[in-house]
Amino acid sequence: MPNASTQVRTTCAASARPLADYRAWLVDLDGTLYRPLGVKLAMAAELAALGWHDIRVIRAFRREHERMREALTACRANLSVAEGAPSSSAFEQQIQRTALGLAMSEPAVERTVHRWMFERPGKWLRLFRRRGLIDRIDRYRLQGGRTALVSDYPATCKLAALRAAELFEVVIANGERGAAFALKPDPAAYLAAAERLATPPNDCVVIGDRDDADGQAARAAGMAFCHVKSMVVVPPR
Ligand SMILES: [Mg+2]
Repeated sequence: MPNASTQVRTTCAASARPLADYRAWLVDLDGTLYRPLGVKLAMAAELAALGWHDIRVIRAFRREHERMREALTACRANLSVAEGAPSSSAFEQQIQRTALGLAMSEPAVERTVHRWMFERPGKWLRLFRRRGLIDRIDRYRLQGGRTALVSDYPATCKLAALRAAELFEVVIANGERGAAFALKPDPAAYLAAAERLATPPNDCVVIGDRDDADGQAARAAGMAFCHVKSMVVVPPR
């Protein structure tokens, strides 16, 4: 029989529902479907050995991501989903800003980013994938659960490497198939996923690795949030 602390861990806050009770799981990719530390260390070693000349591009690209996210967070009070999607994706804007900052061409930045952030990490993503979560999503989907992947980066290469492409009915990934959403914690991409699954936000749970991105977006969308490390479901306030 579970003790009190176990009960808190598995059923969470007083009004929380078990994960399986939600009609749709909206899942983040990076840091959620794989363990990021192992991938980061492996890629750092690979970059140092084979791509040292590209390190400044990757660092600048990552910096732009955090700057864009911080800027969004700072001005979120003035933003509205009803304003509609931007004309270019956050990924395209991140490429543009990186190219401008380094005085490089956008195609050159994009080639470097693609090689080091999407192609070469594939083997490490596979090695460090969260097998338990991936199996759980598979079982949930087979039992009738609705599933979407929501990512701030292109997802096709990474989903193929993880052998997880079939797990998701809907994929919303910045930089792919015309998806042009602001970065998380803007809730627009999660709301779009819920709409495409024809599921109301209060019947969706976001599964992610960052409370300041996925968690904040979930709360703004009126969805529950489940942090991948604890697997504790926190209902919307
Ligand atoms: Mg993440």
